Amino acid sequence: MSLKKRENFLPYGLPCHDEAEINGVIDAIKSNWWSRGPKVSEFEEKFAALVGAKYALAVNSCTAALHLALLSHGIGPGDEIITTPYTFCSTVNTIVHTGATPVFADIDESTGLINPDEIEKKITPKTKGIIPVHYAGQSCDMDRINDIAKRHNLFVVEDAAHAVCATYKGTPIGGGHNAVAFSFYATKNLSTGEGGMLTSDDEEFINKARVMSLHGMSRNAWNRYSKGGSWRYDVEYAGHKYNMTDIAAALGLAQLNKIDGMQSLREEYAYIYGKAFEDLEGIEPLEISDKGRHAWHLYAIRIKSDKLDIDRDEFARIMTEDYNIGISVHFIPVHLHPFYVNNYNTTRGQYPKAENLFDEELSIPLYPAMTKDDVEYVAEAVREIALQHAK
Ligand SMILES: *Cc1c(COP(=O)(O)O)cnc(C)c1O
Repeated sequence: MSLKKRENFLPYGLPCHDEAEINGVIDAIKSNWWSRGPKVSEFEEKFAALVGAKYALAVNSCTAALHLALLSHGIGPGDEIITTPYTFCSTVNTIVHTGATPVFADIDESTGLINPDEIEKKITPKTKGIIPVHYAGQSCDMDRINDIAKRHNLFVVEDAAHAVCATYKGTPIGGGHNAVAFSFYATKNLSTGEGGMLTSDDEEFINKARVMSLHGMSRNAWNRYSKGGSWRYDVEYAGHKYNMTDIAAALGLAQLNKIDGMQSLREEYAYIYGKAFEDLEGIEPLEISDKGRHAWHLYAIRIKSDKLDIDRDEFARIMTEDYNIGISVHFIPVHLHPFYVNNYNTTRGQYPKAENLFDEELSIPLYPAMTKDDVEYVAEAVREIALQHAK
């Protein structure tokens, strides 16, 4: 080992903030709008403009946005929704929450994205919708997925938790016809601490989701505390409590102002990694498509077990213990989690591409609060480990 261990631990992910976020939150507190108020409306409008959506509904997580999208599409027991096993559990959990049955379609191993051919094989008379996940910040093959949906009369809800600023064939993710769910979790590309957004070009769909997001109350319930607001409301459904607060929206508005700069840094850092790993046989970054802009939420590499004398777990251990670098793995395929094994009889071997990628995947730090020196240190550490352990 020639590279010295970092003095301070480099976390795997951190939010990126300055005085703007701090002042925005103080402003929200002083305004006395501590729950949903004018900042949430402003954030919805500005976010919709960023992604080219007609309508946007701010909520307290991407999980809430996905759940509302399914409810607004009228999904319930007896329905089947096709999604990828290669995602965060919440994508699939929300299907379970509606009473519908999740059905998995395997991925393309080179990108981590759902394979449209596999989707097609899983369609039955009960299938109602598809949830593709724009893994790592790269768009799925939306032309093919939208075409399958159209031919079989299915809806598409896109999980864009990683994909703020991503595009597909010139259109921002969020700017098409589908409902799209975004995450503003602490370490996502744009953050409100906890938060999410549901976008759509269908006014009726968004209005239904909006009512469901606040106890099923109609008549602009959030407005009832302002001057001219009425105390009267109707409960139309047994809804949920999913609304965003003005304090969170203040963070979101500050982040929106700097999203372009944050995105450029992610691109610059991803480029540095790509160059550094080019000649390494044991390290294989995932494939990048030329069909759109990558949001670079994750920098995922494969630790090639056939080219190295160590596996991913050992590689990860060395990164953390010998170099002081935080790492992560995205994702443990959902069908391998005990809940799904026990309730849906899923087993290893069912989705081999997702399993193969999981076995070798390592996510290394990539976020705008890192310095260029941090990025170069991580790149050098990966190089050193890969060269020392080459077969
Ligand atoms: C983070 C994440 C979610 C959930 O986002 P929350 O805002 O935490 O609910 C959903 N899907 C994917 C792919 C994610 O990475």
